[in-house]
Amino acid sequence: MKPHRMRMVHNLVLNYGLDKKMQILKPPRASPEEMTRFHTDEYIDFLKHVTPETAADLTRNHEIFLSGEDCPSFEGLFEFCSISAGGSIAAANRLTSGESDISVNWAGGLHHAKKREASGFCYVNDIVLAIIELLRYHQRVLYIDIDIHHGDGVEEAFYTTDRVLTCSFHKYPDYFPGTGSTDDTGMFKGKSYSVNFPLRDGIDDESYHSVFRPTIQHIMEWYRPGAVVLQCGADSLAGDKLGVFNLSMKGHADCVKFVKAFNLPMIVLGGGGYAVRNVSRTWTYETGLLVDKHLEEDLPFNDYLDYYGPRYKLDVPETNMENHNTPEYLHDIQTKVFEHLKELPFAPSAQIREVPSDPWPYSDQSDDELDERISKAANNIYDEPEMEEDDYQSTYKNRSNRINGRNRTQNFSKKKRRFFQSAQTSNNFNNFGCGHEHTSKPQLDDFLRQIVGSSASTNTLNNQLNERISPEYNM
Ligand SMILES: [Zn+2]
Repeated sequence: MKPHRMRMVHNLVLNYGLDKKMQILKPPRASPEEMTRFHTDEYIDFLKHVTPETAADLTRNHEIFLSGEDCPSFEGLFEFCSISAGGSIAAANRLTSGESDISVNWAGGLHHAKKREASGFCYVNDIVLAIIELLRYHQRVLYIDIDIHHGDGVEEAFYTTDRVLTCSFHKYPDYFPGTGSTDDTGMFKGKSYSVNFPLRDGIDDESYHSVFRPTIQHIMEWYRPGAVVLQCGADSLAGDKLGVFNLSMKGHADCVKFVKAFNLPMIVLGGGGYAVRNVSRTWTYETGLLVDKHLEEDLPFNDYLDYYGPRYKLDVPETNMENHNTPEYLHDIQTKVFEHLKELPFAPSAQIREVPSDPWPYSDQSDDELDERISKAANNIYDEPEMEEDDYQSTYKNRSNRINGRNRTQNFSKKKRRFFQSAQTSNNFNNFGCGHEHTSKPQLDDFLRQIVGSSASTNTLNNQLNERISPEYNM
């Protein structure tokens, strides 16, 4: 997740001349006020003030969760978040203003971040913030996630509404973050509007497309979204350091191509991806697809050419890894998913609240020096030396096993419960979507309260929630 990934992608995009086919913008950073449209004030305030020295104390005193291993505190943390979130919010505003058909933010896609806690190196959920912007103009927004990890933060944020349909393809079970079974389909008004496609190790292009295309096709036909957000996590690529899928660059990009063909306003975001050369190859190739430019397979000269040896090609091939997704398994899951999708009414007519027509005002925070400082700080923390395979086995595999293991899951039901407690019972609901006219600030809670209504008691919510969490994670 180093900023270095972004530098490599950007540099390759420029050297392929793709900048001539699009506008490249430097969006304003997201302000704390913008972030609290989803996150709590306390959490954002915490992110703003936390330092590596104060992290432990602040976490304890405020009951805010920063996991030490995959969500460390580092100097420049808040700036890192505000750049990523600012990009996605600006991407949404470009669509809603009609200035762009497609917006890309490869520095976004941080799909694990929760309302009041960081998870899986995601601190601020830029995706939820962007979707909230889109909801001001679009009745229905479709979120698609092809990262190898379940898009849990986004699903959770919109679990009780039919205005956002989330659809995630990911490894499940026994994998971080531990959620994403086919049975998780949404609650209350959001019932059937969360779609999960669990996959096993080693899925290849052909198998992936055999389920991705019909599922998305069906959703498009029945849900008829006004806009699409596509999270393109590249840890689903073959040879990823944490991932266990076997998608080639072209196979991964085929998902982008397929979604683009529906010609809807679209935001394309990054996400995970831990073999940097392949991440930058793939996101560059996908940028090319989005601007309809064919890219030569021989890489052009660029600042990071050394990284791409010995072949220097724009390609990530599949490997010979075994595909544990048998046609029977995929067929069974597909049948289950389609059973749930059958319950999806044809283009639901969600009620529209009156929304102001201008984007929320940006805060003017430009500071070029800050860019330097963040890169430096982040480099100090994340510039680990390139590892040999043996080191990698012992470091990453152990680490990911620990993250995937039961010690990570103890807080799981507690966390889920906390979230849904915050979404319960209506109380002073304000007009969702308005940032400046009311004394109390509207947050996603207000939006969810409207959907959930006042009839659901905490107990009902918790009971349903416990059923939703598989026994293994419900300790
Ligand atoms: Zn991921």
